[in-house]
Amino acid sequence: SAKEQGRNCYCFFTQGLQQKADSQAKLHQDLKVALKEDQLELYYQPILNLETNQLDKAECLIRWNHPERGIISPGLFIPIAEKTGIIKELGCWIRDQACSQVKQLINNGLNIRLSVNVSRLEFWSGELVSSFLDNMEKYSVIADFLTVEITESLFLKNQKEMTLALSNLRTLGVKISIDDFGTGYSSLSYLGNFPLDELKIDRSFINGIEGEERKQSLVEAIITLSHKLGMKVVAEGIETKGQFELLKSKGCDYAQGFYYAKPMPAKAFTEFATQHWIEANSKYAKPQKD
Ligand code: C2E
Ligand code: MG
Ligand code: MG
Ligand code: MG
Repeated sequence: SAKEQGRNCYCFFTQGLQQKADSQAKLHQDLKVALKEDQLELYYQPILNLETNQLDKAECLIRWNHPERGIISPGLFIPIAEKTGIIKELGCWIRDQACSQVKQLINNGLNIRLSVNVSRLEFWSGELVSSFLDNMEKYSVIADFLTVEITESLFLKNQKEMTLALSNLRTLGVKISIDDFGTGYSSLSYLGNFPLDELKIDRSFINGIEGEERKQSLVEAIITLSHKLGMKVVAEGIETKGQFELLKSKGCDYAQGFYYAKPMPAKAFTEFATQHWIEANSKYAKPQKD
């Protein structure tokens, strides 16, 4: 009967929700273990400077080597970590790794700025600046080598709090980048109100751009706007040669995406960057190792 069907639907619905809650609780528990047992790993995705053809930048992207489930993507566990608050511990670990990696790269003769994603809870925690400072001191890394990536949605908070939070980061000396630009459903006014260093065009604008003139116009306008406001522009999600050439011809400053390189573990990244350095600079010279 319809009534039974209705009841079945209801059962199915609650079961679904319950299962989701259970699996999130399980992931949260597993994440605590992961932090203790070294299951987390920071990957590095090269970002190419289109003007100089140097690899002088990379984004840190976390990976979880789960003992039973294999590699779990951050898109799945970062939101849970954010919900449960464990993102704060995760963030500390990430900043430690990132600073340590900057140091190691410098020791390999590679001057590469690393971008670190910072999520909402971390940003408003009040501990972000001191946590960066601690790790910068620990590894003798200066702020010039660090960029913080935040998303537009943070600017929905009131302007006074945002001004304070951003000026604290500025005092620290790290660069500030707007991630996933164009997807945050926030007004553009924040671009006029806050000094920012970099804007990353979300990959939804890059996807299919070759055949879509309207997307090309949008991207062109974003690049012009950014430059007028003194910001560098990174295009995310460049997967094809065509996209790469197009963004380069439009004066985009940096390219990130599978076309150039995928995110990779530290060792592979150092090798990739060394190889790039050799090819970009000279056939014979090698970066100085200490
Ligand atoms: P995001 O910061 O926008 O990072 C870029 C994402 O795009 C990464 O996904 C990267 O692997 C992916 N990507 C790069 N190039 C391409 C491409 O050419 N095509 C496609 N389809 N994708 C590309 P990933 O590593 O799965 O990370 C997803 C999101 O999880 C990140 O988006 C970021 O919001 C969050 N996340 C990752 N690592 C961290 C972290 O260490 N801390 C925090 N708070 N969030 C992180
Ligand atoms: Mg990012
Ligand atoms: Mg992004
Ligand atoms: Mg994203």
